[in-house]
Amino acid sequence: MQKRQLLYSGKAKDIYATSDPNLVIMRYRDDLTALNGEKRGSFEGKGAINQAVSDTIFAFLENRGIKTHFVKTLGDNETLVKAVTILPLEVIVRNVAAGSFSRKYGVKEGTPLKSAVLEYSYKMDELGDPMLAESHILALGLATQEQLNKIADSTYKVNDALKELFSRLGLNLIDFKVEFGVTSDGDILLADEITQDSCRLWDMETGVRVDKDRFRQDLGGVKDAYQDLLERLTRASTPTSCENA
Ligand code: UDP
Repeated sequence: MQKRQLLYSGKAKDIYATSDPNLVIMRYRDDLTALNGEKRGSFEGKGAINQAVSDTIFAFLENRGIKTHFVKTLGDNETLVKAVTILPLEVIVRNVAAGSFSRKYGVKEGTPLKSAVLEYSYKMDELGDPMLAESHILALGLATQEQLNKIADSTYKVNDALKELFSRLGLNLIDFKVEFGVTSDGDILLADEITQDSCRLWDMETGVRVDKDRFRQDLGGVKDAYQDLLERLTRASTPTSCENA
């Protein structure tokens, strides 16, 4: 398998073709963006951290029986993934009120929700990513009902698995965004990335934010927060001396 031409350059990742038409390489850059790309920044090592975090999480979800695009970690911030056509949907799950949900519905940030919210927005920066009901998605032909059923089912499973994983790391999963893609065979796979760019994570004891809100809201300590999550994940996957005994 050989790396070929650049196919697409997104806000924080590049996608390269490979000699196998069913596989592409995703390369994580050091860029950070917020407010639909209006606010930009970067720090050295961010691409490497996000790659390590996302690859660990995707491998964990695969182990839980969730179908994803993940194939394997390569060097140099690169991950080999199955080629998919990304559906133009941001699939968002909320466990606790924060961000746009708090603003829109007047609910104080940090209020636990009685049940998880699953919502969709149209991945379209020019329109400000408007929220979509299922009927909008069907009417606009963005996905079929069958695809939406699979997406909802998989997303709730992702939420359960991630809540469990992060709580083991001492973190509360407030909300997150995922994306799905369709393979040439028509399979729906969880795709893109799961990192601090796409999840809100608050320390369970201190409430400190360990995610992109530090950048969005100029809270400082952005790099430390990104490193902190990777360290927690690494510690959790390293057997302790007790377990070795
Ligand atoms: N999110 C994302 N990309 C987007 C919009 C949202 O990854 O383009 C994530 C965001 O990090 C948060 C969740 O989706 O974990 C819900 O975001 P929200 O709608 O509250 O947006 P925001 O407060 O960023 O406007």
